[in-house]
Amino acid sequence: MTQAKPSARPVAFDYDPPGRDTVSIQHSLANHLLYTVGKDPIAAKPGDWENALAHTVRDRLVERWMNTTRLQYQHDVKRVYYLSAEFLIGRALSNGLMAVGLYDQCRDSLQQMGLDLEELKAEEPDAALGNGGLGRLAACFLDSMATVGLPGFGYGIRYDYGMFAQKIQDGRQVETPDHWLAAGNPWEFPRPEVQYKVQYGGRVEHDAQGRASWVGAKTLQAMAYDTIIPGHETDSVITLRLWSARAADEIDLKLFSRGEYLAATEDKNRAENVSRVLYPDDSTQQGRELRLLQQYFFCSASLQDIVRRHLQSHADMDHTGAEASRVSLDGLADKVAVHLNDTHPAIAVPELMRILVDIYGVEWNRAWALCSRIFSYTNHTLMPEALETWPVEMMGALLPRHLEIIYCINHEFLQDVRRRFGDDNDLLRRVSLIDEEHGKRVRMGYLSIVASHKVNGVSKLHSDLMVETIFADFARIFPGRFTNMTNGVTPRRWLAQCNPGLSALIDAKIGRGWRTDLDQLAKLKPLADEAAFAEQFRAIKLANKQKLAKLIADTTGVAVNPASLFDVQVKRIHEYKRQLLNVLHVITRYNRILANPDADWVPRTVIFAGKAASAYFQAKLIIKLIHDVANKVNNDPRIGGKLKVVFVPNYSVSVAETLMPAADLSEQISTAGTEASGTGNMKLALNGALTIGTLDGANIEIGAHAGWDNIFIFGKTTPQVQELERNGYQPRAFYDENAELRQVLTQIGSGFFSPEEPNRFHPIVYSLLDQGDRYFLLADYADYVACQDKVDTQYRDQAEWTRKAILNVASMGFFSSDRTIREYARDIWQVQPLREVLAND
Ligand SMILES: *Cc1c(COP(=O)(O)O)cnc(C)c1O
Repeated sequence: MTQAKPSARPVAFDYDPPGRDTVSIQHSLANHLLYTVGKDPIAAKPGDWENALAHTVRDRLVERWMNTTRLQYQHDVKRVYYLSAEFLIGRALSNGLMAVGLYDQCRDSLQQMGLDLEELKAEEPDAALGNGGLGRLAACFLDSMATVGLPGFGYGIRYDYGMFAQKIQDGRQVETPDHWLAAGNPWEFPRPEVQYKVQYGGRVEHDAQGRASWVGAKTLQAMAYDTIIPGHETDSVITLRLWSARAADEIDLKLFSRGEYLAATEDKNRAENVSRVLYPDDSTQQGRELRLLQQYFFCSASLQDIVRRHLQSHADMDHTGAEASRVSLDGLADKVAVHLNDTHPAIAVPELMRILVDIYGVEWNRAWALCSRIFSYTNHTLMPEALETWPVEMMGALLPRHLEIIYCINHEFLQDVRRRFGDDNDLLRRVSLIDEEHGKRVRMGYLSIVASHKVNGVSKLHSDLMVETIFADFARIFPGRFTNMTNGVTPRRWLAQCNPGLSALIDAKIGRGWRTDLDQLAKLKPLADEAAFAEQFRAIKLANKQKLAKLIADTTGVAVNPASLFDVQVKRIHEYKRQLLNVLHVITRYNRILANPDADWVPRTVIFAGKAASAYFQAKLIIKLIHDVANKVNNDPRIGGKLKVVFVPNYSVSVAETLMPAADLSEQISTAGTEASGTGNMKLALNGALTIGTLDGANIEIGAHAGWDNIFIFGKTTPQVQELERNGYQPRAFYDENAELRQVLTQIGSGFFSPEEPNRFHPIVYSLLDQGDRYFLLADYADYVACQDKVDTQYRDQAEWTRKAILNVASMGFFSSDRTIREYARDIWQVQPLREVLAND
């Protein structure tokens, strides 16, 4: 028998719910400036006012938050716990203001006090606890869980330093630390009472009954910080719980009492390093042990928290002591779904087994059956070098019991495979959780598959390729386990918040409902043919381009023409995303303009933004090439205004919010079969950019929804790329037969763009001509350039271009992360939105 936790005893508890009128808002703001921030209005800086405003908004969310959490407890709903090493949230203020429906009201209240909301918004640092798409997806998913009313809960790491800030010095990327917490974080609630011990190191001992105990381990503390995640146009507010590392013993008292004060704090510092800094995804070998510890740290704390919460609210009344817990834990999978965002949290699998078996004495097979019902896993990449593995030796030293558990899981898994598929040693070697070929390593992706009841890719193409290539054996072993969940983005941040002009126009035509039901955008389709609507649409795009032009001027000093075609490629700098192919086109266009200056050129501004992993030499060299080409092109008087190249520094969620609404053309040009989904492609199309792209990731689904006439597709398809690969791809063959391509590569390689260092870009030309051109740039070059010509032709017809842009916006309903989250909830997690539970209760 289980029963919900008794509600708190009634006490006299009276509070002033904060009002929504102008006077209440102004009082809240004044109160917070005085009593929370502790500043005299005479001395207050914009940052202080921003802080006071954030608290003012937060006050209006807290009651909803308490109600949501209380209802979840009272109705004892099944929850989904989203484990992610990254949450790329960005700023919270505008989002919070819109969620409580007080944006305009607050702006006007501030204005009366002589304060400018736009100015205050710019004071807020981005919460950049992620590298790129994977982390941003997690943030969009939290927004959607809250808005859809799903009992969701995020778990991650409260990094002291998030994604580095990118400075450009002399055309090169320079990384600077992102101390986003320096001025405090009004959106989080520290929970010093919620702390768990996390152990590492030591060794395992087994008693006569075979029970394992982990002894001699070192200990850390994980302390919870709760961030509120508001839903929109609903009372639902959910929690993102981030863990911060603390030393188990504050400082060494013995050393302290001997006067060795600095030495006494050493352990403390070492412990706190565990949540110090976000790793870039292509991290170097050094520090990898700390990364594994980070992963274990947040998974262990999260699972202890989940199990504690379950036992607290499902006390078994018919048994006592250990038996009571065991009986309660039998129901764990009915109340808990745990999702692994990529393999970074895969260590949660052996950790849950350890908790169940070693701590609560649950029998192994029962524990494993629970795990298989609880876990699900999203794969985010097909690139073999990105599939996480850990040296057995490292894991054994850091997490000896977990390694043992993984060996047990592997043993039973391989036995099962042998039973069903016979003694196919080659198969067994291929699917073993331990890779024996590259010095023994634990394969975290395989561990995640074996433990999960569902494994999903993030676009149709990616999910198909996943079961045809990297996980083909597993698809045979576990038919039915693999599925697709095409990514989405939240329309609140990526349309309502970032593009107020377009949002107001849409509101005027079809109402406000699209914010929580993006399919309603389809009602715009008939308007694509209305001249007046198209004109308004174009005027809004122009205003957004002017705003971006100002950001470009402020950050780069380059003046760009808002009437030119804004050609935008913004995303992490990576060879597979092929920013270099874009550069090859830019140089081709430059050469063509010089050869034919009087032709009717469509003026273009080619805009790049993105960070390169700090250890990724080739990506950093591409950033330098973009700057050197920009220098040449932008300063060549013969080019006039026909071509400009800019690199917007420090790509981040906030910078993206200015870029997306201003784009005419969205560059999604990855080698077919390499981009799992992409979400930047969705944000840009939603804001009325036309896509030029390969048949890769979600581009395919964007084309299917927008209509193939309304997207520019070029390049080899995935099967064609695979065939080139099979037949021994010869990039030189493409080079030899294309004079323009030869000219471009000669210019890059001979120092045309870097006369002060002619060899600077040798490694780039070398990678294309002599190292096999791994991402098939030369194979796609001619088709890409030809496709760019079609873009020009289309852009000359502004009426037709605008019509296509409107149809893109109108067709993006499917790409709302609300749709994605509902699919996960229904097909993977079996979790219901709270209001559906209430309706059925
Ligand atoms: C959406 C987004 C990404 C992902 O972009 P892709 O083009 O899908 O790679 C990366 N970084 C930020 C800041 C984003 O907003």
